[in-house]
Amino acid sequence: MARRMIIAGNWKMNKTPSEAVALIKELIPLVKNDAVDVVFCVPAIDIIPAVEAVKGTNIKIGAENMYFEESGAYTGEIAPNMLVDAGVSHVILGHSERRGYFGETDLDINKKVKKAFEHDLTPIICCGESLEQREQGITIDWIRQQIKIAFLDITADQAKAAVIAYEPIWAIGTGKTATSDQAQEVCGAIRDCIREIYDEATADAIRIQYGGSVNAKTAPDLFAKPDIDGGLVGGASLKAEFGDIVNYE
Ligand code: PEP
Repeated sequence: MARRMIIAGNWKMNKTPSEAVALIKELIPLVKNDAVDVVFCVPAIDIIPAVEAVKGTNIKIGAENMYFEESGAYTGEIAPNMLVDAGVSHVILGHSERRGYFGETDLDINKKVKKAFEHDLTPIICCGESLEQREQGITIDWIRQQIKIAFLDITADQAKAAVIAYEPIWAIGTGKTATSDQAQEVCGAIRDCIREIYDEATADAIRIQYGGSVNAKTAPDLFAKPDIDGGLVGGASLKAEFGDIVNYE
């Protein structure tokens, strides 16, 4: 089955609302590619102007995080229905920066994945190993555990619509992209894990991105790999280079 490519930018904590609109205007003509789903995941305060700015284009707006409760006394958090009402379609969950700096656990991420599906938001579920784990040879075991917990109580139909982003922590923001063979090995193992949890059809449908210092030079080899269905791009998504990444072929 031919899976549609999905290339998402993770803007992290960059760009004020007015800067966001200016960047989107610069990127709109550069990221046109009918064969690719293009998503800009922007800071929460940029979501409303970003949704307005991409109207009439191929670009979708995503959030970088979301809470797993519907509403209430959770100061500073954002509820799923707030994202939906603002026009968001995708949400990054379990980014390693959320796990590392803000203590998010695999079980928190599972709760968020369930909530995202309840609200018809597409989760971009992040997983990845540290350099120490890679050197210890436990990368695949670690990632399989992250995936198994993230997908607890998620149905096959929901899983088919999910996006997984494999992001080795040692490659994020470091300029050290994983080789396309390293990335394929882990993305293939993630698809095997999904096949074990569900079935062949679900493994075939789910989209798996690679993330970690993707740039215009490394994108073509990475995206040509059989189990890599696009990328989650940090630093390079804030530049005109993102257009070359989206048009990698
Ligand atoms: C990310 O933050 O998801 C990421 C992959 O960042 P970068 O591309 O800058 O390594």
